Amino acid sequence: MTGTAPAALDVHDIHKSFAGIEVLKGISATAQRGDVISIIGSSGSGKSTFLRCINLLEAPDRGRIVVGGEELKLRPSRKGSLEAADSKQLERLRTGLGMVFQSFNLWAHRTVLENVIEAPVHVLKMPRREAVEKAEALLSKVGLYDKRDAYPAFLSGGQQQRAAIARALCVDPAVMLFDEPTSALDPELVGEVLKVIRDLAEEGRTMLLVTHEMSFAREVSSHVMFLDKGRVEEEGPPDQVFGDPKSARCREFTRSLG
Ligand code: ADP
Ligand code: MG
Repeated sequence: MTGTAPAALDVHDIHKSFAGIEVLKGISATAQRGDVISIIGSSGSGKSTFLRCINLLEAPDRGRIVVGGEELKLRPSRKGSLEAADSKQLERLRTGLGMVFQSFNLWAHRTVLENVIEAPVHVLKMPRREAVEKAEALLSKVGLYDKRDAYPAFLSGGQQQRAAIARALCVDPAVMLFDEPTSALDPELVGEVLKVIRDLAEEGRTMLLVTHEMSFAREVSSHVMFLDKGRVEEEGPPDQVFGDPKSARCREFTRSLG
């Protein structure tokens, strides 16, 4: 068939070892546009390492990464893992993969607005006026327009995380990668961040979401992956993975949390 759109993200057979211990034993994931893939699993199962390998924050030992149909060019590095063969291509493809971390990672000495316009102005070379307009629209969307001139230290954790999401969105990433975006928050602040992520899912944003919020994952995901000791132990539609898991480990895990 002609005219089939390439997957927004196609990650194939990622392997990664630390000090001789293989923590990713061949993980693959494909996100079509609009898919929300939740990645669940106990601490240490490899969820963060998998997300970090996708944008090469961590160097995979083996695997392929294809973003919007374009394969990331990789070559063996001296350390024995893989590295980008073309740093310009890496920068460009990475810009298409907006990452949101557990710990927000805003620049402390810059205002919220300055944080959000940083990548569009310096990486995409967007005119400052245009970036500010776009950033203000995104800040309104996440409910932070009135905090645009505040420094991160004056915001709550939930506000900081919403600012970090606006920052990731400001370069129009094709895929958003969330690594436990609510795990560092006080319980009363979790809902406001989940609401922003739910809105993005409803808009049809493509996302990979590592989370311990089981009911949220069940509600927003099109697909759920359960990682166990560096392998995909179970995956499928949320109602299957949460409601009728085949794997005993997966059943035990989802029951313990959910
Ligand atoms: P998760 O996010 O599911 O909790 P991680 O991907 O953070 O799991 O970690 C998977 C395994 O890899 C763990 O055993 C962890 O200790 C190990 N690991 C992660 N990052 C590093 C690192 N930079 N150096 C050494 N070991 C690491
Ligand atoms: Mg983690």
